Amino acid sequence: MSNLPLTAIAYPAKGSAGRTGLWRTERPVINYERCVKCLICWLYCPEPAVVRRGDDSVEIDYDYCKGCGICANECPAKAITMVEEVS
Ligand code: SF4
Ligand code: SF4
Repeated sequence: MSNLPLTAIAYPAKGSAGRTGLWRTERPVINYERCVKCLICWLYCPEPAVVRRGDDSVEIDYDYCKGCGICANECPAKAITMVEEVS
């Protein structure tokens, strides 16, 4: 991340728009064999739905992931796939 330009960052808060996971029609699924822990998905997610673990791996908080697909679109390793939500 050291080569990214400095910029202002807004911190979304859980619950500010309710449980946004209820909006979802597709869900992101991470392939951990492809993930290189670059944290791009964590930076770009507009909700607090990509959770950064202590070892810089990531996981999705499906209570707040609204299924927008930005993480899958931005992942440089193509480690995130959007799959149809099954209710
Ligand atoms: S953007 Fe892709 S490679 Fe980077 S941390 Fe997220 S899932 Fe892993
Ligand atoms: S699809 Fe990805 S970017 Fe969109 S809310 Fe869910 S985790 Fe965040």
